[in-house]
Amino acid sequence: MKQLYIDFDGVILDTMTKSYEEIEKAGIDKKDQDAVMEYFRNVNWDKLIKETDEINDSINEIKKICASKKFNVYILTHINSTKEMIAKIKYLHKKLPQVTIVSVPKQVPKTEVVNPASAILIDDYSGNVKQWQKKLGIGIKFVKEEENSDYPEITRLSEVIDMFNQ
Ligand SMILES: [Mg+2]
Repeated sequence: MKQLYIDFDGVILDTMTKSYEEIEKAGIDKKDQDAVMEYFRNVNWDKLIKETDEINDSINEIKKICASKKFNVYILTHINSTKEMIAKIKYLHKKLPQVTIVSVPKQVPKTEVVNPASAILIDDYSGNVKQWQKKLGIGIKFVKEEENSDYPEITRLSEVIDMFNQ
């Protein structure tokens, strides 16, 4: 079975769209990285997760992937704080109890926490997909709608099932 890592923010839940709306409302300059980091350190993640929509039926799509028995499925997510990690674990444990969660501190590349070689990553951030490919992993970009980016793209997570024979 292939290792399959699925990103959380922007793939499972639309947390970034929601939080950037809040950042704008709070009058924080989006380009001010320190202020944005500070926002994410203090945000109430339980509330954010509760108020945020799933993207393209992501939870059911992941259940389909698990049912295909082709992959060892992990959620691989960057976190800014322990509170964020706990909120994501609580949510995922309830929705997808069979899936393992790997939390990565924001300051560390995902490729330094898990071994990308021959493993698949589905992520909405091109930078992560690029880094993954560089380390000989199979990077797939998740997009809400087709973008014709430089990477293989999917708009629904279960599309990955037919991309690999085993
Ligand atoms: Mg993401």
